Amino acid sequence: MPDTIALIGLPVSFHSSYLSGSARAPDAIRAALRCESTNMWTESGIDLGCGSILADAGDRAITASGFREEIDAEVARLLKSRFRPVCLGGDHSISYPILRAIHREHGAVQLLQLDAHPDLYDNFENNPYSHASPFARIMEEGLAARLVQAGIRAANRHQRAQAERFSVEMFEMRDWRGAPEFRFTGPLYISLDLDVLDPAFAPGVSHPEPGGLSTRQIIEILQSIGAPIVGADIVELNPDRDPLGITAMAGAKLLKEIAARMIENG
Ligand code: MN
Ligand code: MN
Repeated sequence: MPDTIALIGLPVSFHSSYLSGSARAPDAIRAALRCESTNMWTESGIDLGCGSILADAGDRAITASGFREEIDAEVARLLKSRFRPVCLGGDHSISYPILRAIHREHGAVQLLQLDAHPDLYDNFENNPYSHASPFARIMEEGLAARLVQAGIRAANRHQRAQAERFSVEMFEMRDWRGAPEFRFTGPLYISLDLDVLDPAFAPGVSHPEPGGLSTRQIIEILQSIGAPIVGADIVELNPDRDPLGITAMAGAKLLKEIAARMIENG
């Protein structure tokens, strides 16, 4: 697989059901990544600031009417140019069109979703493309061979039924006794919703849900992954709720560790 990772900002918030700040998230994560308070090294010793390891494809303006086709096309373009995309949301609705492009390139990959919420609604507030529904669309279309969700703590009856329908492997916080051993055998896509973190570690999200994981626990999960990673997204940062930049900093830190696994896993 190619070694160059490309960041792409997809400042979409029109599918958010509550607050709209996530459109300003890509710049906040970039600023945290480049902030002189830290450096560009991963914990395993890769300097992401060195050479052409990490490119930045900038932001793409996305329209509400064409969002599926536009996001799909942007990701497809990066994949054709042999980049591995790390998409900066934006709200979680972006994962569905991203996975359409990933599927054409790689087939049905395995999917790890780190999130407080299952995002499996068949139709949320009359919007089937809401940020509460992307994984229902992905599983219906067979875009992923397998969906593993971790950090879940806001599932309702409908979403549990949906999880059963799609054979989702849901690791919930109520059962959490340390990180489960995830065994990913094939190409993997990682979808990181920053509200998987406890609000104590990441207050700057639109739907804070107490009782979540620490930044360290997410890093441990990421560092334990041995499968090749074909792409990732980091979504749901809301800079309006993040006055001290704590959540953007957490997002940038996790981005570095995802990039490390992408490079080291080949
Ligand atoms: Mn969430
Ligand atoms: Mn989500």
